[in-house]
Amino acid sequence: MGAPTVTQVADGTYLVGGTEVNWTVLTDGDAVTLIDAGYPGDEHLVVESLRSLGYRPEQIAAVLITHAHIDHVGSLPGLLRRGTFPVHTSEQEARHARREYLEQATTLDVVTRLWRPGYLGWSLAITRAGATKHVRVPEARPFPGPGPLDLPGHPVPVPTPGHTSGHTCYHLPEAGALVTGDTLITGHRTSPVSGPQLVTPFFSHDPAATLASLDVLEPLAADVILPGHGPAHRGPLKEATALARERAAATR
Ligand SMILES: [Zn+2]
Repeated sequence: MGAPTVTQVADGTYLVGGTEVNWTVLTDGDAVTLIDAGYPGDEHLVVESLRSLGYRPEQIAAVLITHAHIDHVGSLPGLLRRGTFPVHTSEQEARHARREYLEQATTLDVVTRLWRPGYLGWSLAITRAGATKHVRVPEARPFPGPGPLDLPGHPVPVPTPGHTSGHTCYHLPEAGALVTGDTLITGHRTSPVSGPQLVTPFFSHDPAATLASLDVLEPLAADVILPGHGPAHRGPLKEATALARERAAATR
């Protein structure tokens, strides 16, 4: 399992790699915002990533969710036993996180693809990290209001439906960064290419809507992408979205 990889991308802005998935930590004084939370088995990696930056789970001001898939909310029940903090996402995704419904690829979707390059190693790693567990987050609530959130990093929620119906990206204007969740990723063990790309269609609830959400991201002022999967990516957002569109068209 090892240690989390913590990459600073701007003042108080860190991308952390856990088990085949990332989360983002935004620090300000004695408080942090955590965006996404890894697999259930990543709980100690989340805690370790905070500790390496000088923080304890009790100092989490809030957790924001891009979307409620197990690789992004898995450690939340455990973290909520270590500290008291609100959990926010879009109104739609809050219902998903509470598991009023489920929009996620099934084990069968994965099993039928195990012959493809990268899938077996990836599926073993995520199974060890608790990918088949049933996690719900009853604490998930909609954002308190529109616009920038009064939290470390002042993240601005950007609705980007597609990968899930209530998926949200987070713009960090002060850092010139964009947390893209699974709307725009930069790598995945099951993907043959690296750099900006869409998630493999079967992982997405509505691949066409995911593609359309790139139009929402494109005009934002950010020159670094903090994705749900793959390394941080620096460069004009327009080029990143164009590359992702091209690759999506080529593999369709
Ligand atoms: Zn994901």
